Amino acid sequence: MIDLHTHTTKSDGSYTPSELIKLAAEVGLEAIAITDHDTCEGHEEAFNAGVENHIEVIPGVELNTGWHSTAIHILGYYIDPCSVYIQKLLEEASKNREIRNLTLIEYMKKDGLPISYSLMKAQYGEIIGRPHFAQFLVNLGLATDISNAFQKYLGRNCPYYVEPTRIPVQSAIEAIKNSGGIPVIAHPFQYKLSPFELNNLISDCVKVGVRGMECIYTGYDTNQVNYLLSLTKKYNIFPTGGSDFHGTPKPNIKLGKLNVPYSYLQNLKNN
Ligand code: AMP
Ligand code: ZN
Ligand code: FE
Ligand code: FE
Repeated sequence: MIDLHTHTTKSDGSYTPSELIKLAAEVGLEAIAITDHDTCEGHEEAFNAGVENHIEVIPGVELNTGWHSTAIHILGYYIDPCSVYIQKLLEEASKNREIRNLTLIEYMKKDGLPISYSLMKAQYGEIIGRPHFAQFLVNLGLATDISNAFQKYLGRNCPYYVEPTRIPVQSAIEAIKNSGGIPVIAHPFQYKLSPFELNNLISDCVKVGVRGMECIYTGYDTNQVNYLLSLTKKYNIFPTGGSDFHGTPKPNIKLGKLNVPYSYLQNLKNN
């Protein structure tokens, strides 16, 4: 079993890269990809932990992109983090995230909440995402848990929701390709697209070189997985699978529960 989609403290996960790799080895994974949001910062620590714990570590990243005003997540595997293409893109992503976060913090301040960006960064690191704001609201006693904080404050149509500027999905795919990486469409059912729209999304992504789609994902049932697998055949791309493990921010997602075969990784590597 492998897992091609996980997060660490370098973005909005609660395990450090070393802790995550150790846990992955303990639950019996053969290989694990680190796919933090908008950063490759966790790779080196994860590689070292992989050697120590005898587990294959795949460098990855998850990019927030836009397609016709829908947020689409693109996973990139084996990119060269030194490539100017990915660096430029990550810089832009980080700029977009900063602007979104600053607006979000302004909204919270207007409501009298004791928040500042420097405080958030001191506590949670460089990549601040909504799960961190959710945790902040939970700590203040304003929400019972992270999911409740999203429902009350941070989700779409909520008082602290800020629509971010998104990088076009095509640009993200091209940047991953140009950096020597393999672009993959993440969790296709999370976008709530109609079958027609999902086909259009895949078709648009394939045109610019997407190589795979995440078919096995936490919560997807057999029918859903089979439907996605049929789409990968239709568009001649490869299936992948990952849990989207975050640790405490997503307490219902456990590591090592998903049945993703090693052959999925082999396919990606061979192409
Ligand atoms: P951001 O990129 O900062 O907008 O944050 C996105 C992160 O928030 C992703 O990891 C999402 O899975 C997570 N997220 C989005 N909605 C929810 C929710 N309702 N409950 C928990 N986490 C969520
Ligand atoms: Zn996340
Ligand atoms: Fe995602
Ligand atoms: Fe993710």
